[in-house]
Amino acid sequence: MVNKVLNLCFQIIRWAPVVFITAVIVWSYYAYVVQMCIFTVASTPEMVIYLLLYHPLLVLFAWTYWQTIFTNPGCAPKEFHLSPSDLDRFIREEDEALQRDILTNVARNLPIQCRTVVGGCRFCEKCKAIKPDRAHHCSVCGSCILKMDHHCPWVNNCVNFTNYKFFVLFLGYALLYCLYIAGTSLQYFIEFWSGVGNSGLGNLHVLFLFFASIMFALSLLFLFGYHLHLVSKNRSTLESFRSPIFRSGPDKDGFSLGSYGNFLEIFGDDKRLWFLPVFSSLGDGVSYTVRNLPTSSSYQSMENRDTAQNELSVPAEATIDPPPLVTTASGTDFGDGVNFPIRTVDEDYDSLLGERQRWMEDGGEEGPGQAESEITLTRH
Ligand code: ZN
Ligand code: ZN
Repeated sequence: MVNKVLNLCFQIIRWAPVVFITAVIVWSYYAYVVQMCIFTVASTPEMVIYLLLYHPLLVLFAWTYWQTIFTNPGCAPKEFHLSPSDLDRFIREEDEALQRDILTNVARNLPIQCRTVVGGCRFCEKCKAIKPDRAHHCSVCGSCILKMDHHCPWVNNCVNFTNYKFFVLFLGYALLYCLYIAGTSLQYFIEFWSGVGNSGLGNLHVLFLFFASIMFALSLLFLFGYHLHLVSKNRSTLESFRSPIFRSGPDKDGFSLGSYGNFLEIFGDDKRLWFLPVFSSLGDGVSYTVRNLPTSSSYQSMENRDTAQNELSVPAEATIDPPPLVTTASGTDFGDGVNFPIRTVDEDYDSLLGERQRWMEDGGEEGPGQAESEITLTRH
């Protein structure tokens, strides 16, 4: 009973930001269409043009928002989960080196190229699964999420491989929506502000509409610009703070295929779908082309990728520079202006890591100082 009440409270808290944003959108519709276009705009042609342009924008904005919220996040496929026998052996084994061997054996046929700082497989203790490249565990969603970008409270969903295109489009259309409203309401805002227009409750709606659209546009401008930058670099928000680690060491641009290739990976190669919230991203969310690999095509089968990985030339010893850590007093800002405690967003750590190494995977929350950040990776 207590659990049910707690779960209900948790769900209400999780959905509150979505309800808030939805309420703002509904109010903006009333304020713009009814109060401004119908009651305030004197010229009928002007009103018709405003409304004709407004509604398609609203549909695209709401559609992308819906898709971002309700697209299921991609989870690690079942072949990444340890079988009961492997799991039993793994749990009973106390030697970390032998535990690592068990994981390496399981991962032999998996398209894994990222690893931990000590060169082992990235393993999720919660899911009891090997993490696919670019996947991280989200404690809000309770699973390992494919190409996790961040958990966004404003959409109550993980932004990840399955909905990243929708999320970027949502930011873009939301920005256009706000700019359009701000641009078309500006003259009426000036009239009311200078006392030329009629006073009344309707005017307050238009005033607030202008203020709100400017306020949202400014924050969206930053966020949209940031994600366009990430798209061009083929980085997730998490990867921009913590570089993925390959055999050759950490490489922030390890998945980059060039700006256009990176854009195609998210938006697909069918131009008709680029600006629609219809899934068209390339790949399966599990295996990724790494820029240093000697590949001839963008996407390989798992077997080919594994072969290519084994052919990768690696220096016998490489020094790992610490990934840049961006923390605030309360946690880490993952890109949409909301701070999370690090463990809430991404409990991506590896039990095989010693205390000295673990802080790097934890994002530096409780680690030692910079002096201990250089770790020598020995090839296994
Ligand atoms: Zn997990
Ligand atoms: Zn999540």
